[in-house]
Amino acid sequence: MILYQLRCGKDHEFEAWFKDGQTCDRQLSRKSVECPVCGNRKVAKALMAPRIGASEKNLPAKPQPAPQDMAVMAGTMREHLQAIRAKVEENCDYVGDKFADEARKIHYGETEARGIYGEATDAQHQELVEEGVEVARIPWLPRSDA
Ligand SMILES: [Zn+2]
Repeated sequence: MILYQLRCGKDHEFEAWFKDGQTCDRQLSRKSVECPVCGNRKVAKALMAPRIGASEKNLPAKPQPAPQDMAVMAGTMREHLQAIRAKVEENCDYVGDKFADEARKIHYGETEARGIYGEATDAQHQELVEEGVEVARIPWLPRSDA
């Protein structure tokens, strides 16, 4: 199961689960997904990486997970975030609090295009988004003790 962030033609954002990415694309192109706010069927994926949920066979029959499953999901999410962190550290340059400046320079072609990561304040993040600079916020977990 994959959770997608979707957006209707009137800019309402909502989340929906799909069996997989293909199912999502098919349902969107058939206009069989309806905005829960206004009923608009002009729905597209919002710009966001899909979150991978628990594998289908582990899902309980009811949509509401039992409390013990929540702990499993939290554990999976933690591993997932740590994997993201490892990948980012491996492939991207750390620029610390210069993140907003560097992201902007890359966006405007003033410096070599490369993956970077660092810290930005909420206000800086908002400015980058408004300028159309592609940025993603990642919940940054401390390294695993293991
Ligand atoms: Zn809507």
